[in-house]
Amino acid sequence: MAKRDFYEILGVAKNASEEEIKKAYRKLAMKYHPDRNPDDKSAETKFKEAKEAYEMLSDADKRAAYDRYGHAGVDPNRGMGGSEGMGGFGEAFGGIFDEIFGQRSGHRGGPQVYKGADLKYSMEITLEEAASGVEKTIKVPGWDECDTCHGSGAKPGTKPTTCPTCGGNGQVRMQQGFFSIQQTCPRCHGTGKIIPEPCTKCDGLGKIKRSKTLEVKIPAGIDEGMRIRSSGNGEPGINGGPPGDLYVEIHVKEHSVFQREGDDLHCEVPVSFTQAALGGEIEVPTIGGKASITIPEGTQSSKTFRLRGKGIKGVRSGYAGDLYCHIQIETPVKLTEHQRKLLKELDESLKKGGEKHSPQEKSWADKVKAFFT
Ligand SMILES: [Zn+2]
Ligand SMILES: [Zn+2]
Repeated sequence: MAKRDFYEILGVAKNASEEEIKKAYRKLAMKYHPDRNPDDKSAETKFKEAKEAYEMLSDADKRAAYDRYGHAGVDPNRGMGGSEGMGGFGEAFGGIFDEIFGQRSGHRGGPQVYKGADLKYSMEITLEEAASGVEKTIKVPGWDECDTCHGSGAKPGTKPTTCPTCGGNGQVRMQQGFFSIQQTCPRCHGTGKIIPEPCTKCDGLGKIKRSKTLEVKIPAGIDEGMRIRSSGNGEPGINGGPPGDLYVEIHVKEHSVFQREGDDLHCEVPVSFTQAALGGEIEVPTIGGKASITIPEGTQSSKTFRLRGKGIKGVRSGYAGDLYCHIQIETPVKLTEHQRKLLKELDESLKKGGEKHSPQEKSWADKVKAFFT
């Protein structure tokens, strides 16, 4: 089935503002959310469609690619591999570098000019680095012009000749049924030239691979899966085309204490049951150090305390999220005889006080009773 236009799905104009797009998506999401439409397949499909459209159109880079190339510009399953292949947004995971096919710039007649392939670099950083921002040095492949053939790819003393298959156009016409299709010349791969005697140093490529060092600035607040574009640091163009870009894709390592959700952080804080019963000040970790919070008398397990502004300052929002401390009551273990005796005494005393000391147990017992009668 043909994919519907993203603007059409959201019901907004092509020049809709970010705010309009967000508003339209919210409306649809509310209407078709699976929680509100249980077992409704068509609502689920509409919800997914709206979500995808919003994800594309709310990202300036993806939206620009979609505006230029349609679905092929943003759909990872399309636009790869053909001569019309679109660089930059294909998500081909593999080694560190995934070459994404170069894209043809619109020159008619004469040798085709190609934009160089985009490169993707996967970078792993810690949550602390994501929170504060960091500068990293990376090694990426680069090219130097071959000093033996000076970039021509032809053995010194020989010259590239015009491709006889396409007559130097770089394109050939193929007849398929009633249609005539223009294709990249299979012999010269669009360059319009063939090299009868290739340079031995560069194997006719005219360039030699080397690695180059780049400084990449990771902005504070960056999150998993976000990309930083380093313009012009992809593969060089072909026939004088512009170079591709380098995309640094960020992966944030799992943290031993914090889980991130958007710009908020969550952590579990174990508290002894006596401390939870008596209340008091406890120390909690934050991404920037330590903080203390006061828990009230009678704090229950899984109670959450929010520390405003102790989350991560969002790379787009510019303001900090919150830190949520989830209290986990820890039952004491490896008791001594004395401690055991004290606890038994405490237990006796609590039982004498009756249900007022354990209102949850009382209400639970009532429910169980009601269930069996
Ligand atoms: Zn050479
Ligand atoms: Zn050719």
